[in-house]
Amino acid sequence: MSFSSLGLSEQLVRATSDQGYETPSPIQAQAIPAVLSGRDVMAAAQTGTGKTAGFTLPLLQRLGENPRTGKGPRALILTPTRELAAQVHDSVNLYSKYIPTKAAVVFGGVKINPQMMKLRKGLDVLVATPGRLMDLYQQNAVRFNEVEILVLDEADRMLDMGFIRDIRKILSLLPAKRQNLLFSATFSNEIRTLAEGLLDNPVQVEVAARNTSAENIKQSVYPVDQSQKTALLSKLVRDNSWDQVLVFTRTKHGANRLTQKLEKDGITAAAIHGNKSQGARTRALADFKAGEVRVLVATDIAARGLDIKQLPQVVNFELPNVPEDYVHRIGRTGRAGESGHALSLVSADEGRMLAGIERLIKKQLPRREVEGFEPTNNLPLKPKAKADPSRARNRNGNGGGTGRPGGKPKSFGAKPGGRSGGRSQNGSGQRSRPAQRQSA
Ligand code: AMP
Repeated sequence: MSFSSLGLSEQLVRATSDQGYETPSPIQAQAIPAVLSGRDVMAAAQTGTGKTAGFTLPLLQRLGENPRTGKGPRALILTPTRELAAQVHDSVNLYSKYIPTKAAVVFGGVKINPQMMKLRKGLDVLVATPGRLMDLYQQNAVRFNEVEILVLDEADRMLDMGFIRDIRKILSLLPAKRQNLLFSATFSNEIRTLAEGLLDNPVQVEVAARNTSAENIKQSVYPVDQSQKTALLSKLVRDNSWDQVLVFTRTKHGANRLTQKLEKDGITAAAIHGNKSQGARTRALADFKAGEVRVLVATDIAARGLDIKQLPQVVNFELPNVPEDYVHRIGRTGRAGESGHALSLVSADEGRMLAGIERLIKKQLPRREVEGFEPTNNLPLKPKAKADPSRARNRNGNGGGTGRPGGKPKSFGAKPGGRSGGRSQNGSGQRSRPAQRQSA
């Protein structure tokens, strides 16, 4: 199969070959013809599957069928974070290099005036984060009456970040007749409700969650005490001569603290999170990509959408609260057919999070202890010798544990006597997260 056999124009195909793409990825093979046909699309796709090209290429082709008559935008792409918005905008520019389509990106955290000027000049494709787009609308800097195609990219994350009100407001301002494309890594009830109100008889596109199967990503767990994590990370970076490793922490403060400690230890490191200015984030990423910084420490939201080619190594310094975030994190390595390694430093207090992750990815991760770093409290990390049948009976359909006698319980790591399986994962795949706007 080739890009041209999917119905894309010669100019767009040429732009993909310039990027070195030889064959369409599975999501592209399904999404491109569907979008070209003018239908609404609901796609289950994660970062790393090639989803951006999956909607951008056919969107550009459809816009190219007619010239722009007003100031636009004619296609609106909403993304949850600034980084993802910038990357999608870069992709739009790359793929439209042989066609006259004009694109711009707007997001918060930077001055609004230059964005207003760009909008005034007229454009076809606008990539935006919802909050800044609403600010621009309220200041009469953008109108939506020419929008023909709407894309919600990483819709689940936009809802997690509390953008639902902005999204609903924006939807109410768009022309009724338009094509809608919704991309989401997960499908909670909330996303389904949004999709039902938004999509008209959509083509459903689903590819095997590349990251959850992740044959090309070697995953392992290093049990270690919380207090020893930094020392173990330094040792691993040194012993394995890692030159480029992306490390995840749960909090912005944690990211700063770890960066400082690594630097003190003689390992170049930079942090990327929502308290950093856009300039500082861009610089940190550029230094990391250029190989000037060995360790990039990131929080989940800041890292979302980061596309760093051929990243060999990802480390979870702390496990994420939401199991799906683990899948997104490890998806930073082993991208586009490369092999990668994701390892997690897990302390005893994170046993329940580990259990939630293993339930989601449907496998138990191998444990590797490092000499000199054996945890003093490893209780939750060791499989129980025997499943407790009374606990198995009490489980309320969260998919955790089969109650197999003597087998390794899947709720491995749950606190004895505590809630089984954790509350955030309740069997419907739904997460409980505060619905406030967060800073990326
Ligand atoms: P995405 O899932 O859109 O974030 O894309 C992930 C990565 O895959 C990006 O670096 C793209 O440049 C790359 N990519 C997208 N489509 C293809 C393709 N058909 N062949 C090879 N790489 C691709």
